Amino acid sequence: MITSIGYAATAARAPLAPFNFERREPGEHDVLIEALFCGVCHSDLHAANNDWGSARYPLVPGHEIVGKVVKVGSAVTRFKVGDHAGIGCLIDSCRECSPCQQGDEHFCERGPTGTYGGYERGTRIPTYGGYSNNYVVAERFALKIPQNMDLAATAPLLCAGITTYSPLRHWKVGPGQRVGVVGLGGLGHMGLKIARALGAEVVLFSSSESKREDGLRLGASDVVISRDADQMKAQTGRFDFILDTVSAEHDINAYLRLLKNDGTLCLVGLPEKPTLFSARSVVFGRKSLAGSFIGGLRETQEMLDFCAQHGIVSDIEMIQIQQINEAYARLEKADVKYRFVIDLASLKR
Ligand code: NAP
Ligand code: ZN
Ligand code: ZN
Repeated sequence: MITSIGYAATAARAPLAPFNFERREPGEHDVLIEALFCGVCHSDLHAANNDWGSARYPLVPGHEIVGKVVKVGSAVTRFKVGDHAGIGCLIDSCRECSPCQQGDEHFCERGPTGTYGGYERGTRIPTYGGYSNNYVVAERFALKIPQNMDLAATAPLLCAGITTYSPLRHWKVGPGQRVGVVGLGGLGHMGLKIARALGAEVVLFSSSESKREDGLRLGASDVVISRDADQMKAQTGRFDFILDTVSAEHDINAYLRLLKNDGTLCLVGLPEKPTLFSARSVVFGRKSLAGSFIGGLRETQEMLDFCAQHGIVSDIEMIQIQQINEAYARLEKADVKYRFVIDLASLKR
């Protein structure tokens, strides 16, 4: 076994603290990655707080991992020692069902294995995430990091990047379309950059007046303050597609109203509580209310290559692991610019 160190939550809302544990040795198809950087996703906070009711403690969060390959199994072909590699939200799946075979491992019929908070497939060995010094993963579930990308700023692409790229591609967002992105946090700022790179006109909806300038800098042609009823009303019926990344309870009818006929509101945010919507909000105008969940391995690699080609990375605020509880408190207040990334060298202190 490999002696490892991370930061774990031991109960809902307990501060994260140092935690020693063991990882398995890499098998013939696996790589051992020395973790260098890990993004802080709002899902980590939801999970640590047990917002979704399925947390298992001790919980080591983190599913936006970039690191260096330090050991490879004998059958590994895509990586060699010294390569950079990424790990996102998935580390395994059944690999046999039809979604798995089509590259939709995240929709595995037998349930995918998440990077943390579950068990290694077919065992009772807990999975611990990327707020740690290493990870062992099958090469099939590891991503290649394109040359010359800033490693720390690339980490958030592994969840925030793919979670926004996948629906923007699925609903064929592109030139000539007017697209809304709701919420300027980790997902939202990636959504802005990617939708813009796909050629759409993008409007940001933010509840924070203070994010207006940044919204424009990150690619929005306009910023609408969602708390201002007049500003919202002026946008009625003007959008082909709206991507809603908000992490907390809010009124989705307000956004359905802004769609053109046949438009789609796609939810990616996962608030703790269910949301109400009126049938009238979708019936008139034949509108669609949809959702989207991360993305499969093939599409995640495609997203990384797309971002490399378009010079897209995340806007990050680097933190030491010792600052993680402070970062969580700021995430809760929507005070993020626009992804915290942990410098994992700080684990050695
Ligand atoms: P984040 O960085 O905290 O950003 C969320 C943003 O939502 C905030 O910055 C804020 O933007 C807005 N917001 C927060 N509270 C609000 C409120 N009460 N009313 C209106 N707006 C509010 O979070 P994230 O990491 O981007 O994650 C966003 C959500 O997506 C989380 O629920 C996360 O669990 C979920 N998620 C889903 C998937 C998936 O596969 N579907 C993957 C990853 C994450 P403004 O200040 O601009 O309003
Ligand atoms: Zn995430
Ligand atoms: Zn499967």
